[in-house]
Amino acid sequence: MHTIEATTELKRLMTAYFQGMRAPVAWCTSVGPAELLRSFGFEVYFPENHGALLGATRTSGDLIPAAVKAGYSGDICSYLTSDIGAHLSGTTPLKKQYGLDGPPRPDLIVYNTNQCREVQDWFTYFAKEHQAPVFGITPPRYLDQVTGVHVQDVAKQFEALVPVCEQITGTRFDIDRFRETLRLSREATELWKSVLATASNSPAPINFFDATIHMGPIVVLRGTQEAKDYYALLLKELQGKVARGEGVLTKEACRIYWDGMPIWGKLRTLSDLFAKNRAAVVASTYCNSWVFDAFDERDPFASSALAYTEIFINRSERAKTEILGRMVKDFRIDGVIFHDAKTCFNNSNARFGMPQRLKEQSGVETLVLEGDLCDLRFYSEGQSHTKIEAFIEQLT
Ligand code: SF4
Repeated sequence: MHTIEATTELKRLMTAYFQGMRAPVAWCTSVGPAELLRSFGFEVYFPENHGALLGATRTSGDLIPAAVKAGYSGDICSYLTSDIGAHLSGTTPLKKQYGLDGPPRPDLIVYNTNQCREVQDWFTYFAKEHQAPVFGITPPRYLDQVTGVHVQDVAKQFEALVPVCEQITGTRFDIDRFRETLRLSREATELWKSVLATASNSPAPINFFDATIHMGPIVVLRGTQEAKDYYALLLKELQGKVARGEGVLTKEACRIYWDGMPIWGKLRTLSDLFAKNRAAVVASTYCNSWVFDAFDERDPFASSALAYTEIFINRSERAKTEILGRMVKDFRIDGVIFHDAKTCFNNSNARFGMPQRLKEQSGVETLVLEGDLCDLRFYSEGQSHTKIEAFIEQLT
């Protein structure tokens, strides 16, 4: 049984993060301008993280009906419906996990539609509920290439957030503080990238299922020394495993790439299923989404704008296929599983022929798996296990 010792530190860190939330608090989308907010002294809270927690604790199924009753379709983002459902039902897993009565009250709510338009509705709902100001960044979407014009547009939108933060916090903008926060974020994201890259070794010392847990700090603590220290610790441990030839599996029968959202309520079961079949799930689009190569503290607004606009989910089909092709090569992938999450078409890439195109271009086998991030009504366990096992057999 493989273990990652840094998990103890991870738990301590995440507990300190949640229990340390003090005003002023800004709510932010997971790939929103966290560094700029943090440079003003905001504690930054991420509703998507709460959505993932609701999925992982399998409470979403009980909560989604409350959101549906309030007018939100059961077919839209199940992070959104779970989170609104939790709010309407007055329940949260934060109570059991961290002793909190609920998410912290926001002083400001900020979203970036670089990932989807759903966050606009979701965050606007909560702005109304909490009577908090809401600020939206709306970049150009589905880009083949990110040009200077795109970057200028988004950088201006980032700059427009400055007076809003100044007014709420009563603090003057300090560019040096922003640069320093961005530097910490860049260093943490570089370490996170190196952590994920250890899985290019065979046997891989970390898999996709581990990475969905260890990605916590790069999502919620970007721009802090703590996040950077954590990934330095994790990387050291994984590099030690690589040097000793220790992996999640002792021998890998095949190597798999996971595209799309995790199925939060089934991480353990799926991890066991792949391990039983000696299939290593070594890389993913999802965990890679918090690698921001473009951060550069010398040009903080333009580089943040570029980093947050060039993310995978905001790219054209052609750009995405190219990125996946590179991942297949770098991680020596035998097969790609496309998770078609029923309530998130934004993060489901199998609907416009990409599996076929990727196979033509990279020669890699592909499988489309129907499911969802939180709403397990859309996931058939028996059928999915059969499909996965048949796929692994085909690859080995
Ligand atoms: S990207 Fe998908 S899962 Fe994430 S908030 Fe948007 S619709 Fe929901």
